[in-house]
Amino acid sequence: MKKNWLTLHGDTFLWLKGNTGLVYNSANKTKILFSLSDKIQKICHQLLDINNLYTIELTNEIINDEEVNRWINLLIGIQAGYLSLNIEFDKRPVSLNPILKVQDNRKYYEEQHNLGFKGKIIETLHELTFYINGSEYGDDEYFKQAIYPLKSSQILDGSKIQTFIKNSRNLFLSNINLVGNLFLYSDFERLIKNISDFSVQLTIHILIKDFLNNERKIKDTEWPIHTHFNVLVDTVFDISCLQNISFPFSVTIFVFSENDFTQFSSMFDTFLLDQNIRFIPLYNRENRPFFELNIFTEKEELDIIDLSKNEIFMRQAFNTENFGKLTVMSDGNVYANVNAPSLGTIDDSPYSIVYKEFTNGQSWFKLREQSPCDICIYQWLCPSPSNYEIILDRPNLCHVKN
Ligand code: SF4
Repeated sequence: MKKNWLTLHGDTFLWLKGNTGLVYNSANKTKILFSLSDKIQKICHQLLDINNLYTIELTNEIINDEEVNRWINLLIGIQAGYLSLNIEFDKRPVSLNPILKVQDNRKYYEEQHNLGFKGKIIETLHELTFYINGSEYGDDEYFKQAIYPLKSSQILDGSKIQTFIKNSRNLFLSNINLVGNLFLYSDFERLIKNISDFSVQLTIHILIKDFLNNERKIKDTEWPIHTHFNVLVDTVFDISCLQNISFPFSVTIFVFSENDFTQFSSMFDTFLLDQNIRFIPLYNRENRPFFELNIFTEKEELDIIDLSKNEIFMRQAFNTENFGKLTVMSDGNVYANVNAPSLGTIDDSPYSIVYKEFTNGQSWFKLREQSPCDICIYQWLCPSPSNYEIILDRPNLCHVKN
């Protein structure tokens, strides 16, 4: 007997939360947001039943229902699905609901570990950050939001840094960051040389005042290839010092207010070099209104978000900010995120630290699963939870009302 079928494409996500539904076509980045009436809700639940292969039968009566018909036309309009009329059951189209099918990594690695296999868990590690020492211009709070040198006088031992990198080595370890005042580090040239032997991208993060105080030394040193400076700007300075630099560098500008943003933007207006410049807002306990006005997401911004299917899967599987990264602070403690408890010290094996994060950690797999995000229709379109939420003591960074 011939029937009518409604099918959603495999690139189409269908999410339901409370009385709201969202259809997102990740192939052409279009979406429709709708209220869930009883009729639409029933259709959506049937579509989400994995046994139905994203295809459900619809009677003529249902298809001709004004509300359902309008909804189906909206779906077809964004190419999220299609109708097949008068088709026999065994010839009906089928599709696959885009569900992330990942092995339960935590459980899998625990079993492997218990069997004595270290497996490939270390290959998840792709970035290491070492706070090698402090700077007189540093700050002991801002590092919780972004890479920012400490004031601390503690110093990380160079041979321990080297051993930790050596034991972390894997095909995917591609970035090493050094944070602090490199030029106060005894025999910094040897440290750089030893790290460059690992053939990874090395980035030296240094505050602008430390950079200016060591300008001559920086320009006279022969930096190994794959070495890059990231100059951290938190004050107005004469940018001519950044002209005619012969090695790769980028600039990170910290802003605390709209005024900072305007001031730094105009300062870099005349900066003609094609360098990578980015702005990072920092919370100083006094600028909450600046964050609420400029950093918190508005519903309108989420309505124009365009993510691929894989980008959504990543947000559903792990924290895209934290995953694969470890930070070693100048006291030797190691963190998957500096706002979470330490996982060990630089003297421990990176494998044991990564294993601990995989099985009991709080950072690499921190998803938008807490209230109110767990009941929000934008749950998997929003970026992973960040350090700003922790510092601002909020579970979300938006003005969206659920
Ligand atoms: S931060 Fe949470 S509550 Fe806000 S829009 Fe994103 S998912 Fe929804």
